[in-house]
Amino acid sequence: ARLANQIAAGEVVERPASVVKELVENSLDAGATRIEVDIEKGGAKLIRIRDNGGGIPRDELTLALSRHATSKVSSLADLEAILSLGFRGEALASISSVSRLVLSARTAEQEQGWQAVAEGRDMVVQLQPASHPVGTTVEVSDLFFNTPARRRFMRTEKTEFGHIDEVLRRIALSRFDVDLILRHNGKPVRQYRAGRLPSQQDKRLAAVCGPAFVASALKFDSEHHGLRLWGWLAPPSAARAQPDLQYTYVNGRMMRDKLLNHAVRQAYGERLPAEGHGAFVLYLELDAREVDVNVHPAKHEVRFHQARLVHDFIYQVLHQALAEAPV
Ligand code: ADP
Ligand code: MG
Repeated sequence: ARLANQIAAGEVVERPASVVKELVENSLDAGATRIEVDIEKGGAKLIRIRDNGGGIPRDELTLALSRHATSKVSSLADLEAILSLGFRGEALASISSVSRLVLSARTAEQEQGWQAVAEGRDMVVQLQPASHPVGTTVEVSDLFFNTPARRRFMRTEKTEFGHIDEVLRRIALSRFDVDLILRHNGKPVRQYRAGRLPSQQDKRLAAVCGPAFVASALKFDSEHHGLRLWGWLAPPSAARAQPDLQYTYVNGRMMRDKLLNHAVRQAYGERLPAEGHGAFVLYLELDAREVDVNVHPAKHEVRFHQARLVHDFIYQVLHQALAEAPV
């Protein structure tokens, strides 16, 4: 069982940051409003994610650690309109096959929490009572301890932590309504406070993208034919100074998509140097049936059924926003 999971892990678990991404997405799927991420040694030693979501019932802890166990998709129809972030039921099994993983949780119905550990080649799950508030804690220690090739592939503590920080930034911009806390080696590094008010949104935007971006950014929000595009875009002068600031979300999911980037780039036109990408945070919302997100296990890519329509809509909204901008 461990081997099959390790093979799957090759796809999902590239480095500590991918573990953090999967686990935080699980917390979001579980309805958490507060998520704490504790990292030690860039994630090589410890990744601990604590949330106040619904928790996992005692009887389902063992299942949660096994492959293709997902509580999120119950039929093929569900697969076509996936709203939750995770849907393959692979992350926990994969991660636990390449680390020492402890899963602790309590649901509101239970008086007591429970803890599950999968051990040995056959990943036999041991269950024991544990004191835990309502919610879930996943503790991943010694990542890649049993896959030396992967372990060697890990970069310095600083580099790996940088990737984790970036994952948290992306998530911070996808869920303004959730408190996110990030600590490294016991020290608080980021605290993104929840809030839906525009002033609170701006604060979080500044925390992620820097005050300079917020000061110059053009805000846009347009709807057309069931498509909505909103967000912030730096005018060309400011964009030139922020080469690494491109955040795109499709129905709340972080995406790196060629079509989206192309549309944005075209909207900037010749006001940016040829190698420039622009600086932006944008949210595209459309009917879930109009997109396929199941293209790649890392789930970064999308396929739009009406690609041309989506492309042109984005181009027009941003072109308009930029037309009113200073040069
Ligand atoms: P997936 O997210 O694709 O369903 P995972 O392997 O990531 O698969 O998780 C397996 C299952 O474990 C989930 O479907 C969910 O039922 C449960 N689970 C994992 N993490 C959490 C969490 N933080 N809170 C509640 N349930 C969780
Ligand atoms: Mg998941």
